[in-house]
Amino acid sequence: MDLEPTLTSLDRAQAHARTWLGSLNSRPVAPAQGPAELMAAFDEPLPEGQTPGADVVDLLALRAEPGLTAFGSPRFYGFVIGGALPATVGADLLTTVWDQNSGLNAVTPAAAAVEVVAARWIKEVLNLPGDATVGYVTGGMMASFTCLGAARNEVLHRVGWDVEAHGLHGAPRVRVIVPDERHATIDLALRYLGLGVDTAVLVPTDDQGRIDVAALRTVLAADPDAPTVVTLAAGNVNTGAFDDFTDAIPLAHEYGAWVHVDGAFGLWAAATPSRVHLSIGMEQADSWSTDAHKWLNVPYDCGLAIVANPRAHRAAFGVHAAYLLQTDAEPDPMELVPEFSRRARGFTVWAAMRALGRTGLAELGENLCAQAQRFADRFADLPGADVLNDVVLDQVLVRFADDDAVTRAVVDRVVAGGVAYFSPTVFKGRTAARISVCNAGTTEDDVDATVTAIAKVLAELV
Ligand SMILES: *Cc1c(COP(=O)(O)O)cnc(C)c1O
Repeated sequence: MDLEPTLTSLDRAQAHARTWLGSLNSRPVAPAQGPAELMAAFDEPLPEGQTPGADVVDLLALRAEPGLTAFGSPRFYGFVIGGALPATVGADLLTTVWDQNSGLNAVTPAAAAVEVVAARWIKEVLNLPGDATVGYVTGGMMASFTCLGAARNEVLHRVGWDVEAHGLHGAPRVRVIVPDERHATIDLALRYLGLGVDTAVLVPTDDQGRIDVAALRTVLAADPDAPTVVTLAAGNVNTGAFDDFTDAIPLAHEYGAWVHVDGAFGLWAAATPSRVHLSIGMEQADSWSTDAHKWLNVPYDCGLAIVANPRAHRAAFGVHAAYLLQTDAEPDPMELVPEFSRRARGFTVWAAMRALGRTGLAELGENLCAQAQRFADRFADLPGADVLNDVVLDQVLVRFADDDAVTRAVVDRVVAGGVAYFSPTVFKGRTAARISVCNAGTTEDDVDATVTAIAKVLAELV
């Protein structure tokens, strides 16, 4: 096999990577061009013949560049995204080069070992049960899907129904209880699992999006013996608020419910000394979903499905086939995720944890929270800016001139100006700009430059 073409292709890719990384601090955060221009750049008939791989890499870099959003910019605060730590970028490149299909212990022992070890470290720093099983999935969405798949198995198993064998046809009804404020991916997971969305029982939340525990009690008591799944949140996607785990989880357990915690970014508060108090009690839940590609700053894509009940986890996603070289002792990586074949996601997660260590992870979290707090403090001094949420973590909701249109215009103009990127949201009926500090590299200077850009635009508008 001639490996020269691959090496040349890698060299070219590395040169483009240097150019891209070199531009991150200063390039406009939003893409220079929009969907139509990018379509035009790529739209061509499939070539008749072949093109050398390295030339295709050049072409890709050239055409894609104007349509790339600088997610890795320290002034990208859109959605909840996160950058990439140095160790993870290198590890991710090796993941590609090594090209492991990481489903089986016997076939990809390196990939399997780092998954187990990184998962053990993560359970330790997040104070989660040491015997919980961890599946490496694409993100928070699939992590919630996986956790709720295990939940579906277990609550039906307890009433004598094998959902894996018989499906939901004729099964006892599973009652799903969710807060009225929740991430849209909880609904998606419920859809995919055949549990339905409109059939879920909604529990009201307070002004920060936290579940009303008294209302949860009433809902649970209405049908005390039903197989039940309750979802809670460690980090509301708008406000960053945490549900009251100390009250809500034991209460749900009194009624035999499986409790799932969506902690896509907020789960990491447990590894952040000044924010640990938010997560107290969450270790009592039955499953937790989180992302590695947000707070932990691992490149896309990686999420973790953490399940306290290894039997349910493996029963829901395990698979055995004669040719797979499996044993019964330890679950194979593929038995903890919906995928059959997949990328060796553990390498980047291991690299992040190994590089940060306990103190580095704590510092990373403290910095995200401190920069979010700095935004709140700077907005307190800016006339016309109102912070709508209690800034408890890394999320800031700010409204301008107490006006929906002005708020949206500020977002649009700042993004168009290129200094920073964030997006509008509507929380409890009010439009706000939503700032999520999730990049490990964001500094006070980045916050100040962003607030200066916002102040300038606001002054033009009011
Ligand atoms: C981002 C997010 C998700 C979804 O995670 P993906 O990685 O995008 O699949 C779920 N819940 C919350 C609270 C989130 O912030």
